[in-house]
Amino acid sequence: MLYIIRLFYIVLVSSFLHADDKLEDVSLQLQWKHQFEYAGFYAAQEKGFYKEVGLNVSFKEFTNESSPVNDVLEKRATYGITYSDLIVDYLNGKPIVFVANFFKHSPLVLVTQNNLKLPSDLKGKKIMGIENTVKSTAFLMMFKDFGMDLGSYISVPPTFNIDDFKNKKVDAMVIFSTNELFYLDQDGIKYNVLNPSSYGTEFYDVNLFTSKDELINHPQRVENFKNASIKGWQYALTHKDEIIDLIMKKYNTQHKSRAALEFEATQIQHMVLPSIFPVGSIDQRRVKMMAEDFKEMGLVPEDTPLDFSDFIYETKNDVNTDLTQGERKFLTSKGSLKLCVDPDWMPFEGIKNGKHIGIAADFFNLIKQKSAVNMELYPTKSWQESMDAAKTRKCDILTLASSTPSRLKYMDFTDSYIKLPLVLATKIDKPYTYNFYALKDEKIGVVGGYAISEILRKKYPTMNVIDVKNIHEGLKMVERGEIYGYVDNLMVIAYTIQHDFTGLIKISARVNESVALAIGTRNDEPILHAIFEKLVHTVSEKEKQEIYNNWVSIEETKEMDYSFILKLIAIMLLISSAYLYHYFKLKKYSKELQRLSITDSLTGIYNRMKIDTVLQYQHDLYARYKAPCGVIMIDIDYFKEVNDRFGHQTGDYVLKQFAHILQTHVRVTDIIGRWGGEEFLIVCPNTEIDQTENIANHLKEKIAAYIFTNGVKHLTASFGVSCFGNGKTIDDIIIEADRALYLSKDSGRNQVTRAKI
Ligand code: GH3
Ligand code: MG
Ligand code: MG
Repeated sequence: MLYIIRLFYIVLVSSFLHADDKLEDVSLQLQWKHQFEYAGFYAAQEKGFYKEVGLNVSFKEFTNESSPVNDVLEKRATYGITYSDLIVDYLNGKPIVFVANFFKHSPLVLVTQNNLKLPSDLKGKKIMGIENTVKSTAFLMMFKDFGMDLGSYISVPPTFNIDDFKNKKVDAMVIFSTNELFYLDQDGIKYNVLNPSSYGTEFYDVNLFTSKDELINHPQRVENFKNASIKGWQYALTHKDEIIDLIMKKYNTQHKSRAALEFEATQIQHMVLPSIFPVGSIDQRRVKMMAEDFKEMGLVPEDTPLDFSDFIYETKNDVNTDLTQGERKFLTSKGSLKLCVDPDWMPFEGIKNGKHIGIAADFFNLIKQKSAVNMELYPTKSWQESMDAAKTRKCDILTLASSTPSRLKYMDFTDSYIKLPLVLATKIDKPYTYNFYALKDEKIGVVGGYAISEILRKKYPTMNVIDVKNIHEGLKMVERGEIYGYVDNLMVIAYTIQHDFTGLIKISARVNESVALAIGTRNDEPILHAIFEKLVHTVSEKEKQEIYNNWVSIEETKEMDYSFILKLIAIMLLISSAYLYHYFKLKKYSKELQRLSITDSLTGIYNRMKIDTVLQYQHDLYARYKAPCGVIMIDIDYFKEVNDRFGHQTGDYVLKQFAHILQTHVRVTDIIGRWGGEEFLIVCPNTEIDQTENIANHLKEKIAAYIFTNGVKHLTASFGVSCFGNGKTIDDIIIEADRALYLSKDSGRNQVTRAKI
């Protein structure tokens, strides 16, 4: 009866919609069964976003007969969602267009029985779901790094039934981290997860595509479908409960529980990463990376050109960037605008033979071409001189500057067009310091008048911030030992070290700040601000990337010393997709280097750099979603004695055993790394401080009870516990944990102390 009512309802609704002849019928082929994975599309439907743009969308759930790419090409569906295999299909000649990407990471992971911790542990084991197919590429790439191939394990065809894993019929199984883990957790099953993305292979998922035919014949429809879907995803991610209700009511063909959908929704938030990437965006460089991986696996012929200009759909820039008549008139009466630049800040900008060069120069040339606004360089010898010229109105525009309170007194700033992370450069013999705060009593150089000096002086009041004339003078002073270090943005420092200071200067710390750079306009002529706010948006993301790539080529880092590259990788990982790109490119010529770069060679657990990236990731999550996260810092008690009594080799062996104990007694989701010598750090995602403290106490007991081999027998460790919190930087969290650990030591060791928060 219910069924008939539902059928009646469907007929009623669809006939009602058909009556509205303004709506066009299109369909979307899904790559799996209905679930939160398609939340954004359901939201676009339910909230009327599709309807607003004249579309009536029907969803086609995945069945055994479905093949999204073929379904779209053979017109059984207008649009489709699929895995990254669409790149392979495109490169092999299928006429498809990549419209939008929603998951920046793939949820496909390998769940293994709890004792199998590394890919190499799977040699000779039964693995379900990894076959010689495109979908398995990420796994096969991960295996390759461990000397394994298709013949190294027993391949079991997929049943999609998690019971086969629970009953230990297989040793490992490909699953969606968004789905099956929930059921394993629910049943208290112990497992381990191998995620290809932890091993350097990062694929997109939930990719929206259509046929070339559709784009040629209905370009506006493609644009509309894309925008409404993006709007839907933005809605779904901010109204999860509402969309879960909707799925339970209308789409729950899999009969998922509310808790399972909630779990899925949380996981998916981490896949879409809306705080880091614009929802729906496609990064051409990442597509190229994936294509190169597919090439490496032989899925695309070696000589296929990797040209994606016909493949990646780009939205026309619909921001109105046309200048008004009044604005044009103002510009004509004003004549040529005077541009003040930084004469010595390559690759961002510089003055060479009286000409403005660098990234900002190319950016401005494009703006000039597009807008036909007259501009000319007002040459200066230093940034300070440029700032003075701007203050005294000798120039109208600062081409590349960040908005600071003192500058706002005489300039307005547009939206930023470049965002830069800050780092510290020191002499090569200085240690890599995670904790920039530890340098609070040192002499640190910055270019006088830079926004950075304002930031540092405010944040580290005791720091001896020394103004220098330019980066060259700053690094020279570092080299001569007159100052401890010099702070500037990563790319400028990398560029200058490599050109003029190779082997003498290195990057030794990351400052937890970045600087957003924009166009500054004199604030006594506010119309200039309105004009440049438009002009800054005339340059598309793609054009910006091209400019950027022209100036920052990876060859520059090739000659740098090894440790520098490693640090660079670590730092880059943290930043934006632009830097991620360089990390990925580095990966291409040095996969092994990259794998080594995340593990500690002695203990096999994550190293400091990887832990840094984990902290940064959790920090982003906290900033955006207030996802709780605990941190435990551990230091072995009287470890020097072990070395002294039993020798360094035994000491090393103890460190390995110690890491192993930690690993066996934390939860799978906790992330352990070696912080330094005999210090370890554990990051506990989604964990409040109380529970983090419990974990630390549990570890303390396990360690004290453990009998170490080689005559060492009993050891203890001291613990400091802290957690992420409002307004806390990563430095703050680490300092808290460190102080708490110190208190544990002070009050007799073998203790857990919780930071005062
Ligand atoms: P406590 O922390 O309880 O104050 O005493 P401790 O003896 O552990 O003190 P400290 O932190 O000063 O000493 C740490 C020692 O760890 C010093 C160093 O020789 C040793 N160490 C650091 N890294 C390694 C390593 O990789 N292998 C070995 N064998 N020893 C290491
Ligand atoms: Mg120590
Ligand atoms: Mg110690």
